[in-house]
Amino acid sequence: MNARALSARPYNFSAGPAAIPAEVLSQAAAEMLDWHGSGMSVMEMSHRGKEFDSIHNQALADLRELLAVPANFRILFMQGGGLAENAIVPLNLAGRTSGVGQGGGVMDYVVTGSWSQKSAKEARRYGEVRVAASGETEGFTRVPDPAGWQLSAKASYVHLCSNETIHGVEYHQLPDLKALGSDAPLVVDFSSHAASRPVDWSRVGLAYGGAQKNLGPAGLTLVIVREDLLGHALPVCPSAFNYQTVAENNSMFNTPPTYAIYIAGLVFQWLKKQGGIQAVEARNIAKARLLYDFIDGSQLYVNKVAKDNRSRMNVPFFLRDEARNTAFLDGAKAAGLLQLKGHKSVGGMRASIYNAMPLKGVQALVDYMRDFEKTQA
Ligand SMILES: *Cc1c(COP(=O)(O)O)cnc(C)c1O
Repeated sequence: MNARALSARPYNFSAGPAAIPAEVLSQAAAEMLDWHGSGMSVMEMSHRGKEFDSIHNQALADLRELLAVPANFRILFMQGGGLAENAIVPLNLAGRTSGVGQGGGVMDYVVTGSWSQKSAKEARRYGEVRVAASGETEGFTRVPDPAGWQLSAKASYVHLCSNETIHGVEYHQLPDLKALGSDAPLVVDFSSHAASRPVDWSRVGLAYGGAQKNLGPAGLTLVIVREDLLGHALPVCPSAFNYQTVAENNSMFNTPPTYAIYIAGLVFQWLKKQGGIQAVEARNIAKARLLYDFIDGSQLYVNKVAKDNRSRMNVPFFLRDEARNTAFLDGAKAAGLLQLKGHKSVGGMRASIYNAMPLKGVQALVDYMRDFEKTQA
């Protein structure tokens, strides 16, 4: 595909599966029938052959470098997505304090939106879930102040979702659990902002996420886990979901999602070419500021999330006159701005502006929103 065709693609604001850099899609297309002279598509290779081995190891090394993952953390490429991790995390960690073979212990959950709410609900099958704090009474418009969290003594872990994709609520700093009086490891669902910013690993025990928001295609689930958290799985934990088993087999206990790993690997190389995570974060900050500043200054649009907790990746917004929603979406589509409809549980609009969305795309959205507001006034 030539450069003109690439730049003529519409801007895609999908929350997930989401836009992938056009350069990556273009390279994958060029390599589809014959990867590096192997005579095979990546889809057709043995996961144990030397060709895929090089793809896998390169992806692991690039991700470790990009996210500055310390040596005492393992990177696992799994399947099942964020929702499967809602079960896989407690299957592996709920028994950490109660002792292996004893069944699940106490797990603390911080609920800040739909995704962490689902996580807490699923974990109840595996032990005693305690909700340490919830933003529900405030309509999930802010992260409850960590100073007020009710953390349990001897919890097996504390779980939070660091970017709520549906409600547009993001932690701009992860809590320091030690300072809050908890010795438990922090487990983070970072599905929808992984690789959008650096991670403070000194505050994290385990981070997981589905790839289809910010890392690549659906089918790949990323788990980054501190080594001391391996080996605590409940006896009922399926072998293919046992972090220790997966780690010991370098994510090859079962066939990993090879093509999704390949595409994610191309995305990691693209991120390095962009200047790495710090440069990408600076761009994400600029993109989010452009959109939020416009919304805050307009008469027609509104975002209800507390300013300190606004997501840089997912920007939900409402038209003050909801009767104009359909006209807004139809006009956006005609202007080459796709998938702006909000999640059905929240309504309104949502612009997801992940790493692959250029500043120009956000500018095009703002220009459209301004024109729409004027012409309809
Ligand atoms: C999309 C998403 C999920 C669910 O991912 P699946 O791959 O559909 O299981 C979980 N958590 C967050 C924060 C998400 O954005």
